[in-house]
Amino acid sequence: MSSQMITVWLLQIQEEAEAGVVFSQRHGAICPACNQRAKIYSTRPWEGSVRIRYHRCSNPQCFLCRAGKTIKSVEEDVTGVETA
Ligand SMILES: [Zn+2]
Repeated sequence: MSSQMITVWLLQIQEEAEAGVVFSQRHGAICPACNQRAKIYSTRPWEGSVRIRYHRCSNPQCFLCRAGKTIKSVEEDVTGVETA
C-alpha cells in the first residue's frame, strides 16, 4: 500500500467513526479500523427508534485508539412500532 492510499484509508475510517457504525446487540460496536469490539463510554437515551452510543477502541495497536478517537454507533430498534 502506498502512503497516499493509507492516508485515504485513514480518512475513510475516521469518517466512518464520526458518521456512526452499526451497533449490534450481540456484537456491540466494531472498531472500523481494527475490527475489534470498541468499549462503550457513553450511552444516550432512545430517541424514537434510534439510540446513539459513543465508544473508544482499546486496542493499543489501533490508530483510532492511539489517536483517542471517539467511535459513534447507532442502534436501531427494528421491531419498530410500539403496540398498546
Ligand atoms: Zn480499533
